[in-house]
Amino acid sequence: GHRRKSTLPGVREQTLIAVKPDGVQRRLVGQIIQRFEQRGFKLVGMKMLQASEDLLSQHYSELRMKPFYPSLLRYMSSGPVVVMVWEGHNVVQTSRTMVGHTNPVEAPPGTVRGDFSIHVSRNVVHASDSPEGANREIQLWFQGKELLNWDCCDQTSTYEV
Ligand code: GDP
Ligand code: MG
Repeated sequence: GHRRKSTLPGVREQTLIAVKPDGVQRRLVGQIIQRFEQRGFKLVGMKMLQASEDLLSQHYSELRMKPFYPSLLRYMSSGPVVVMVWEGHNVVQTSRTMVGHTNPVEAPPGTVRGDFSIHVSRNVVHASDSPEGANREIQLWFQGKELLNWDCCDQTSTYEV
């Protein structure tokens, strides 16, 4: 049969977004999800868990020599996190822009960190920083069957297909 082919490359790009323990404690989960929904991205996986230090040491393996690494793992394992996979065109780069600079001091209003946080040690949310990093992190946090392949009814209003 006839199959339409998307004219936009990378519509299936995915990224890992996590509401960190401070964001969950401060009841910011809904507002953070809302920002990605209203932008037009598609939620394809989500769960709440208290992450182990083992999982977090793999997630943050690149930072193991940093002076703040032990306190980062303590903070990230201190309570539940909400981990999500969002999908869409250029989602990795766009979500980094939506989340804002690592240090909230540098994050402008309108970004998640610029609207909801003050200090780098409690910056509310995680977002993958590259497509390769996103794929690595998604495989670390999710099993394949936990990611749903579903059609968003407004696709033709979001993309030229
Ligand atoms: P991100 O990708 O923007 O989250 O930033 P990084 O990957 O560089 O760092 C991971 C996380 O470590 C950040 O989101 C912060 O929570 C924490 N972090 C980074 N730099 C610092 C720092 O200088 N001090 C402290 N206390 N935490 C930091
Ligand atoms: Mg990072």
